[in-house]
Amino acid sequence: MRILMILEKARPAVSTSVVETTALSAADRCDRCGAQAYVRVTMASGFELMFCAHHGKEHADKLKQVALKIHDESERIQ
Ligand SMILES: [Zn+2]
Repeated sequence: MRILMILEKARPAVSTSVVETTALSAADRCDRCGAQAYVRVTMASGFELMFCAHHGKEHADKLKQVALKIHDESERIQ
């Protein structure tokens, strides 16, 4: 288990050249408050919602139920 955890942590560093989703930029804004978005939620319909780290966290439980995909970059601001 310990080895698996280490591999999991190492993965982002070795796969940075492979971008499977478009990274969020400073131009992406939270739909609720207008702050820089760090969470992008893709609905089954293809509709996308943007949230700042605060609102992404606030709505996380609800979003997990309805979202097709959640792209979360909120760890970048720590
Ligand atoms: Zn917000």
